[in-house]
Amino acid sequence: MVLARARAVDGPDKPFRFAEIKRRELDEQDVLIEIKFAGICHSDIHTAHGEWGHVHYPLVPGHEIAGLVTAVGPGVTKYQIGDRVGVGCMVDSCGECENCLRGEEQYCLNGNVPTYAGVDKYGEPTQGGYSTHIVVTEDFVVRIPDNIGLDAAAPLLCAGITTYSPLNRWQAGPGKKVAVIGLGGLGHMGVKIAHAMGAEVTVLSQTLSKKEDGLKFGAQHYYATKDPETFKELAGTFDLIINTVSAVINLDAYLGLLKLDGTLVNVGAPGEPLSVNVMSLIGHRRSFAGSMIGGIRETQEMLDFCSEHGIVPNIEVISADQIDEAYERVLASDVRYRFVIDTSTI
Ligand code: NAP
Ligand code: ZN
Repeated sequence: MVLARARAVDGPDKPFRFAEIKRRELDEQDVLIEIKFAGICHSDIHTAHGEWGHVHYPLVPGHEIAGLVTAVGPGVTKYQIGDRVGVGCMVDSCGECENCLRGEEQYCLNGNVPTYAGVDKYGEPTQGGYSTHIVVTEDFVVRIPDNIGLDAAAPLLCAGITTYSPLNRWQAGPGKKVAVIGLGGLGHMGVKIAHAMGAEVTVLSQTLSKKEDGLKFGAQHYYATKDPETFKELAGTFDLIINTVSAVINLDAYLGLLKLDGTLVNVGAPGEPLSVNVMSLIGHRRSFAGSMIGGIRETQEMLDFCSEHGIVPNIEVISADQIDEAYERVLASDVRYRFVIDTSTI
């Protein structure tokens, strides 16, 4: 058993505090990881604030984990001590259902085990990456390519895969017009990845304040959604729209920006329901879809894609004492473009 240092929260309105958490003894297939960096995802905030329903407190969030392997169980074959590895939003699944067998463990029919705010196969609550160590079964660990720093790698484990997966599935590529709504953690990764896939990318942000950044990330066009002219000018333009917004937006307005047969994929996950007028879909045979992170195989594929294309997130590394402040800034859309905790400061 390893005693890890961590930052935990005791309730929806409580600040983060120091905590010690127990990581289990290594089982046959387990890997002990010394966490070096952990990204702050807006999902951490939704969860810590109880917006997605009841959670078990104290809660240690964090599902964008990058670190080094420091011990392995006797049956581990894929990893060795010293390997640079990552862990994303899930740490286990049944491994036997139709979806797991397809490599889509995130959609495990028996429920995947989330990295935090879940219950593992031993009946223990899972605790996430705002900590110094974690024990994970090797099948839920991925390898971080050598040319990506561990700090920059962390956000790829959620923000990277959550945007890569729908861009891949809905075939963003040459000749495709792709829009990304919201230029935050997920959004800025979506822009970089869609651009690298060869698509013509447009950012739909609330204002033009981040335009220069958006164009640097690879967008060709950048529009303010606060300006009603945007919706007139872009009507019927896109093959694919990825909505990364953490709050409720007027979906019908955005569906109107799709071409015939276009698809709007929602990855943003506000606690409140989003409504759709079916006429927005019927009119031009449009689709409205959702997508959740990606499977382990696809996560490795995404890391290798980012390595090959030189894609890394734009990060601001913070100390563990700055988590509350970082949450405030994310909520104010003042993130450029992912906060990453240096876990040596915990
Ligand atoms: P984030 O960094 O806060 O980015 C969200 C962006 O949405 C903001 O930067 C802002 O962009 C825009 N936005 C925020 N409030 C808005 C409002 N009221 N109206 C319009 N736009 C608004 O968050 P994130 O970490 O990227 O996560 C985004 C969402 O995806 C969260 O709900 C998170 O839980 C969810 N998520 C889902 C999955 C999945 O598997 N589906 C995985 C990870 C995260 P602008 O300033 O450019 O307008
Ligand atoms: Zn996340």
